[in-house]
Amino acid sequence: MGTPVVFIISAPSGSGKSTLVARLLRDVPRLTFSVSYTTRRPRGAEQNGEDYVFTTREDFEARIANDEFLEYADVFGNYYGTHYGVLSAAEVKGCDLVLDIDVQGAAQLKRKVPGAVSIFILPPSRKVLEARLRSRSEDSDAVIERRLHDAAREIENYRAYDYVLINDNLEESSLTLIGIVRAERVRRARVEEQIQPILETFQDGLQHAALQEDRS
Ligand code: 5GP
Repeated sequence: MGTPVVFIISAPSGSGKSTLVARLLRDVPRLTFSVSYTTRRPRGAEQNGEDYVFTTREDFEARIANDEFLEYADVFGNYYGTHYGVLSAAEVKGCDLVLDIDVQGAAQLKRKVPGAVSIFILPPSRKVLEARLRSRSEDSDAVIERRLHDAAREIENYRAYDYVLINDNLEESSLTLIGIVRAERVRRARVEEQIQPILETFQDGLQHAALQEDRS
């Protein structure tokens, strides 16, 4: 098993990213989710160590000083960061890594891991995004307005990504995301190690045929 393939997934809030990531992890084997550190408070049923490692600003800043993060960013007033440990943990498990991080983090990560594959999920329109945010009924009008405003800014960054997935149909988008991951795994450079032993079996066949010819 070689170095893990790193899949970065970014999207504005309300674009269906969490559902798409959950389905990807459910349906594709050998994928592991990168659990980030954050200074924001847990929401709903979120579990420490599963959804995030929840920590204090003080602890987070000490880890920044200690150079423990592959990337980190201040998102909506809270720190979020990817610990270096997630890469080696994925490698030990023989898994590829899925990161759900914001556009600032994605840019930092691309610099550190140039082979990382980045996917941006886009809602089909502002109207659809607004309807989705309202139907979640999690947020006040002011928060929804802010999320829409932030989305407009985040969306501008789509050019930095390898793939852009317009999520107008969850079933279709889920299949496309799975397709991206499966296709990226069989890029020639990534399967080179598996090719050699296959080629050798053909070489054996050729040698056998040559021997037979000599004998006849
Ligand atoms: P939420 O608080 O809704 O879980 O996440 C807010 C934003 O932070 C999302 O856009 C999410 O992708 C981003 N995020 C989560 N973890 C990380 C991380 O480790 N690094 C960065 N840069 N962004 C993150």
